[in-house]
Amino acid sequence: MGLLIVLSGPAGVGKGTVCTALRSRMPELVYSVSATTRHPRPGEIDGVNYFFKSREQFLQMIDHDAMLEHAEYVGNFYGTPRDFVDETLANGKNVILEIEVQGAMKVKDKFPEAVMVFLLPPSLAELKARITGRGTETLDTINTRMNVAVEELSLLSQYDYAVMNDEIDNACDKIRSIILAENCRRERLPAHILAMGAATEKA
Ligand code: 5GP
Repeated sequence: MGLLIVLSGPAGVGKGTVCTALRSRMPELVYSVSATTRHPRPGEIDGVNYFFKSREQFLQMIDHDAMLEHAEYVGNFYGTPRDFVDETLANGKNVILEIEVQGAMKVKDKFPEAVMVFLLPPSLAELKARITGRGTETLDTINTRMNVAVEELSLLSQYDYAVMNDEIDNACDKIRSIILAENCRRERLPAHILAMGAATEKA
């Protein structure tokens, strides 16, 4: 089984940017493309950034139990298609989900062995600047996102790791180290490697 890595944290902390940078440094990491009812932003491509769905299509996916988790976030649905994640993990590959905190908590319930990584902003002021600076949202949306973000920060205690996104390279280095270390955990080693240790003990 591969590792399921959940990268989450408050809105505007830079999850998307860090995840993209991490994927270019770790091409072996498999990214799960989410489904959403949000409209595409300029430059976003269906099937690459998201699977863009109508509300009806999204609700149908939920009905068919096709979502590993889903959440309603600032008026839109977001969710992780289940089959792709299950199949990729079963093939022994590591999968990364870049999702908001409600969905992350649902994944933690279903996959207690998931590696939960929380991305922190350097400060609240910096977080507000980032939410405002995105430039693609209305003032109402910015205010809603800031209020949500402050609530989201309180979920930090539910995570295994906290990584401050002060600088993208630093954050990527830390997450890469977390993934490498988690892959070396004794309890995750394949049986034939564990057997090597058992044989040496006896010898
Ligand atoms: P955006 O609209 O800016 O692309 O994403 C809004 C939020 O939705 C971000 O915090 C992003 O991490 C989160 N998100 C993206 N995909 C998923 C998903 O599949 N499930 C959940 N729960 N959140 C998601």
